[in-house]
Amino acid sequence: MISTDIKHSVERLSDMVETSRRILPFTGAGISTECGIPDFRSPGGIWTRMPPIPFDAFVARQEMRDETWRRRFAMEEQFRAAQPGRGHRALASLHARGKAPTIVTQNIDNLHQMSGVPASAVVELHGNTTYAICLDCEKRFELSWIKAQYDAYQGRVRDCDCGGFIKTATVSFGQPMPDAPMRHAKNATLECDLFLAVGSSLVVWPAAGFPLMAKRNGARLVIINREPTEFDEIADLVVRGDIGDVLAHFIL
Ligand code: NAD
Ligand code: ZN
Repeated sequence: MISTDIKHSVERLSDMVETSRRILPFTGAGISTECGIPDFRSPGGIWTRMPPIPFDAFVARQEMRDETWRRRFAMEEQFRAAQPGRGHRALASLHARGKAPTIVTQNIDNLHQMSGVPASAVVELHGNTTYAICLDCEKRFELSWIKAQYDAYQGRVRDCDCGGFIKTATVSFGQPMPDAPMRHAKNATLECDLFLAVGSSLVVWPAAGFPLMAKRNGARLVIINREPTEFDEIADLVVRGDIGDVLAHFIL
């Protein structure tokens, strides 16, 4: 069923939370919009302003790497200022109660970890933009160091000492999905009896396969999103409202 009434949604959701044994929150960009980080697909979202740069373009052309870093640093104020929102805090509360041992996210903003969930319990399907790695030797680089380089070299990030390109630790379109997080997410999906899809349009694959996998495995599926999603029809409950308003009731 689709619910647009917050009070009613919260009651239904509370019921499902209390009667579930193991919840798997699965989050997308919508949980972080109230924290000042725009999503991709909402009106005014990032993609209405600039199309994404695919991985092969990043690797093939210096100008694309320069442009990728220019965009990343243009967003830095927003990422640096962002604090966990009501949705993150609610999910951290479910984690602290032992109800949600793992959180799977498509987000790259580090806000689940900042809300108090240990990094080991956060599965990042698309990586993390708050640091960078060398694509060849996987050495880690801090963004503050890269920014200093970037400013000193007139807007260019130099390559790693091994010769590899340095890129934020995120998964771009066309870049292979990371093995360990995919495995971890699959196991968590098969173990849960309540799958909570929060703030995702559920169109990015393979990430969008997880709600489907959970449902086929017998879990109940709840979708919280202010716009319709790909899987509304198969969900047990669709909450069509603001994530923060709904989940605020679950903050301990
Ligand atoms: P998306 O942009 O495709 O979908 C976000 C959904 O959230 C939209 O359907 C929108 O209607 C909804 N939404 C936004 N704010 C909401 C709110 N306050 N309450 C209720 N619903 C709200 O995002 P996606 O499905 O996560 O896929 C986009 C990809 O972009 C992801 O893979 C992610 O890696 C990346 N991304 C991440 C961030 C981030 O880390 N914060 C931001 C933008 C994009
Ligand atoms: Zn290297």
